[in-house]
Amino acid sequence: MLQLTCPWCGPRDETEFHHGGQAHVARPADPAALDDAAWAAYLFFRDNPAGPFAERWVHSLGCRRWFHAVRDTVTYAVLATYRPDAPRPGLAVARPDGETR
Ligand SMILES: [Zn+2]
Repeated sequence: MLQLTCPWCGPRDETEFHHGGQAHVARPADPAALDDAAWAAYLFFRDNPAGPFAERWVHSLGCRRWFHAVRDTVTYAVLATYRPDAPRPGLAVARPDGETR
């Protein structure tokens, strides 16, 4: 079972959390100026990398706070968790093929 480390509560089983999608999605600076295509891009299109990916999670069966996690989408390993007001940690991930991302 996957374990996530809540920045406030510590390590817990995945069943205590809910996924909230991609982290660090910037809100439009001037929403009234967006056309339909720009709104669609903001609302529906997200990155889908093979490798480290910053996601939002909520500790719904614990402190009920939101936080960010960097999870490797290839290995499913959680590389870091951090508070939403903290910057994304710089991470280098070594792959079995020797490539570093
Ligand atoms: Zn918590």
